[in-house]
Amino acid sequence: MAGHPVLDFVNTVAWRTDDGRRADRVPDEAAWTRWAADAGLGATALPDGASLRALRELLAALLDAYVDATAPAPPVRERWRATALTARERSALSHDFPLHPVAANVCDELTLKAEELLADAAALGRVRRCAGPGCGWFFLDRSRNGARRWCSSGDCGNRDRARRHYERTRQAAAN
Ligand SMILES: [Zn+2]
Repeated sequence: MAGHPVLDFVNTVAWRTDDGRRADRVPDEAAWTRWAADAGLGATALPDGASLRALRELLAALLDAYVDATAPAPPVRERWRATALTARERSALSHDFPLHPVAANVCDELTLKAEELLADAAALGRVRRCAGPGCGWFFLDRSRNGARRWCSSGDCGNRDRARRHYERTRQAAAN
């Protein structure tokens, strides 16, 4: 697990930055239902797969921009603004204090969580992208020195370990 549900969500694409190996770990609605339950989200309503995939790509673009130390491209920023606005508009409000938005569906809940993450400089400062070639997974670096480079404690850049990493993630996705 990446340490944050939004990062886990984006990480449902394995080998994201390698076009040859890129693999969607949640290929259908049943897999998304399982994923949402495992992610411990409050919302249970599941939007269609296209909406989930579009949000996943948008969040990946934002996180890529962050770890590459660039501002998000204007179309990405605008799409994110509109997405976040819609998620809030559709949300209910909790009945009692602390007052917080109650997301209408899984996409909206992930959007609200991502909005918090992307606005929180301290949390954002711990977001990393695995240095393993082609891996592309994001994680929160909770190490004391903040110098963690790999998605797992092993060396994702090492060919052999990368293969085992692949097997592990495939197994994890199948569970
Ligand atoms: Zn990795």
